[in-house]
Amino acid sequence: MSSAIKSLHQQLVKREITCQALVEKHLKTLKENTHHTVNLLLEKQALDKAKKVDQKINSGQSIGLLEGIPFGVKDVFMLIDTFTTASSDLLKQYNAPYTATAIQKLLDAGAIPIVKENCDSFGHGSSSENTVFGAVKNAKDTSLVAGGSSGGSAVNVAKDYTVFSIGGDTGGSIRQPSGYNKIYGMKPSYGRVSRYGLMAYASSTDCVGPLTTSIEDLCIVLNAISGKDTKDQTSYSSDSIEFEDLSSQKIKKVGYYKDFIDNTAISDQVKKDFLQTLDKIKRLPDVELIAIEDFFPTDVLVATYYTIAMAETASNLSRLDGTNYGDRVSKDSLKETYSVTRSEKFSQETKRRIVGGNQILSQGFSDEVYTKALRLRDQLIAKFNQDFKDIEVIVSPLTPTSPPKIGKSLKDPLQMYLSDAYTVGFSLGKLPCVTIPQGTVTGVQITAPRKADAKALAFANVLKEVL
Ligand code: GLN
Repeated sequence: MSSAIKSLHQQLVKREITCQALVEKHLKTLKENTHHTVNLLLEKQALDKAKKVDQKINSGQSIGLLEGIPFGVKDVFMLIDTFTTASSDLLKQYNAPYTATAIQKLLDAGAIPIVKENCDSFGHGSSSENTVFGAVKNAKDTSLVAGGSSGGSAVNVAKDYTVFSIGGDTGGSIRQPSGYNKIYGMKPSYGRVSRYGLMAYASSTDCVGPLTTSIEDLCIVLNAISGKDTKDQTSYSSDSIEFEDLSSQKIKKVGYYKDFIDNTAISDQVKKDFLQTLDKIKRLPDVELIAIEDFFPTDVLVATYYTIAMAETASNLSRLDGTNYGDRVSKDSLKETYSVTRSEKFSQETKRRIVGGNQILSQGFSDEVYTKALRLRDQLIAKFNQDFKDIEVIVSPLTPTSPPKIGKSLKDPLQMYLSDAYTVGFSLGKLPCVTIPQGTVTGVQITAPRKADAKALAFANVLKEVL
């Protein structure tokens, strides 16, 4: 697929379409859709912005590449004066008092946010069923889940309800729904994009990234949102990645983790497809395919990730007690108000993580469990550093199985956690990963060393042509 952004830009500049018509078209399809992708339509604001873009074009002024392009925002990003609900009951009426840096950068570039998108509440989930706005339905087969947690964003892009969307990825939430709905998605290196204004799930792995219909659009949007931000001390400045330059990066050494496919959890179909993908990579001229031994077992990756993620989310969500943010269920005492508000207004899955996280951090447990997870994370990062001495990128399947039917994941949370086996390790490693929709039923993931985001994009661009 070529760039949808560039093509629309050309049509706007040549006056083949008006920005108002473009925005109206997308608002209409969002309104009519029955996939449960919408938490809030930003109709008035979007149309006001579109009219200004049209005036600019009509008066002969030039417009930027992203100017007038309608996009979606996962409903965990602050956008001033709009509800930012995190798909939760607690924050259903919470009005954002400021705008997230990544979204502000897009606004500054003239792009037009048209929808706050349904997702798993606070990013907790892999199916976009943990939401008070109704389970998001898969773009290709409505009996299946959309994936998560950025499920609404992925479906909107897949159905062309938005031209691109901005998601958050803590342990796979951009990559996995992108694969489930057959689009492109990217989790940049941790820190490349500011987290300011993204509701914190697990702050040490939270990343902001684009979901698009092409690699070129991944580059365009990534460049617009990246950069050092004084409001997020973990952010760093980076060079732009030009799509046209990707082909000059010749990736020669490609690795894959043997443990990922010698695994009992992987379905026969995903394994067969991925082995075929490896075969095609082997046949690429000048590319050496290297099997990497001795990786961490997937259950250790999942356990390490969920230990850290639950601990961090319990800590981050402790501020949501009905006092300063969102709804309150008032009771006789302050303590009772806290506990009834939190009991009634958080979902079951979110409470499971808060209770688990507080247990992990409690005296007597934290040394054994939390500190151990941190040590394992250090070992994992050391292993990645070692492996990347010999190879340039790692290819892996996105998920061990195909997307489940709606209703299944909520009944079996452990199974849902295990379905994150191939994404969470790279999150702990803070590495850049790109999802392409080819290669297995849920796509393929390409991972590069930290801050080498261009390498992941370059190899994704090669692979999408041969798979
Ligand atoms: N499925 C993973 C989890 O529930 C990842 C979610 C995410 O990246 N926000 O933690």
